This record gives sequence, C-alpha cells and structure tokens, in this order.
Amino acid sequence: MTTPRKLAAGNWKMNGLEAQLAEVDTLMATHTTPVCDILLCPPATLIDRMARRIGDGKIAVGGQDCHAAPSGAHTGDVSAAMLADAGATHVILGHSERRADHGESDDAVRDKVAAAWEAGLVPVVCVGETLEQREGGSTLAVVGGQLQGSIPDGATAATLVVAYEPVWAIGTGRVPTTEQIAEVHDFLRDRLSQRMGGEGNGVSLLYGGSVKPSNAAEIFAVENVNGALVGGASLKAGDFSGIIDALE
Ligand code: PGA
Repeated sequence: MTTPRKLAAGNWKMNGLEAQLAEVDTLMATHTTPVCDILLCPPATLIDRMARRIGDGKIAVGGQDCHAAPSGAHTGDVSAAMLADAGATHVILGHSERRADHGESDDAVRDKVAAAWEAGLVPVVCVGETLEQREGGSTLAVVGGQLQGSIPDGATAATLVVAYEPVWAIGTGRVPTTEQIAEVHDFLRDRLSQRMGGEGNGVSLLYGGSVKPSNAAEIFAVENVNGALVGGASLKAGDFSGIIDALE
C-alpha cells in the first residue's frame, strides 16, 4: 500500500515582491534535510526567481493556477508548460478564490488538471464548502461533487494532491473542529480509493484554512490529514517553519 507523502505547501496568493524571497533563504537555512515535502507557490512573477534561488535546495516551487491550453491567444494567462519551464513542479488548481473570482467550474478545473499532467506538474486540487453549504448540511455532497468533477481519470498517488479548504476557514482565523476535518478527510479518502483503487490511499490530503503554528499539530494528528495548504502563515518563514516542524 502506498503511504501518502507529508506535504507542507505555502500559497502566497497575490503577495510578494523580490524582497519577499529573503523568507525562502531563511526557510532553506532552517530546513536543510526536511523529513516532509515543502512546497511554495508564489505569484507567477516570482516562480523563476524563487526556483533559481532554491537551486538544489529542498523546497519545491509551484504555480497558483494555469490555463488549460499549452499556448495560444490567451492574453494574461500562463500555461502549465510555462510554469514548468520557469521551475515549477506543482500547481494549485481550483482554489476557492479562483472558483469565486474567476467563475471556475469543476469542468474548467478538470481541464487544467489534465494540462498540468501534460506538462509534468503535480496539481494540488482544492475542494471546500461555503459556510452556507455547511450550515445547510451539504458539505460532503459539495466536496464529493468537486472531487469527482475536478479530477480527470488516470490520477495516481504520485500525480495528485488534494486540499480540503472550507471557504469559511480561509483567511478568517476560524478553523473547523478536528471532528469536522476528520469527517471530510475520511470521506475524501474513501472516494479516492473507490475511484483509484490502491493508488487513492497514497494521495496526499491537505487541510487548508487558517493553519498556524499554534493549531498545526492538532490538525496533523487527524487521520487522513497528510499536510497543509497554508496561506497567510506561509508568508513569514518563522510561521511556516513552525507548521513544517509540527508536520515532521
Ligand atoms: P489561509 O489561506 O491559510 O490564509 O487561511 C489558505 C488558503 O487559501 O490556501
């Protein structure tokens, strides 16, 4: 049976100019031989510079979105092949901010996942319910639908990461109870196993939404939580280090 890899992933969102790369130097100096995988997803403008700065250091670099086409007349967009060319190995897809700000449907995300695979990138596919959906009792139906609709056939444990990010927990300081996290993660694991067989047991399942050094250990103790997708707390090396330490 494949064991999921532990992954601490940082999503810088639309934050970071050149000076922000100093945080990466600090992270590299602190985690020279990390026991878990570490991934940073800066804005597209910093991918190349970050990847060069890391060199053969133990931090992977990822994008935050990609277009589904490999190239073409799509002003302002970046393709998966371009991310890979810039030094990325991963790409976050279907983040709730993309789904909300850019109206990305499950179909659109699925096409992007296929494009990421084509370019040799590992997609970090995000699913998560809104507060209204949770209060209406449809959390599992929502994340199940997103999971099914956003991932094409053919995924393997090595080519897929899934992040459960309740929309109401992102950037709010509000974190679900460990029971709520466990319920969704167990459900996602079951669904992946049904669809992918043994490979589904090896997919890393991340929790995301207001993860901090102070709550990380409790979250990582939940079964089927294999790491975190971290927004705000990934911008400061000290905070992100605390989360990496909790995962290791
Ligand atoms: P947050 O964001 O850690 O700032 O809540 C998480 C995310 O959106 O990936």
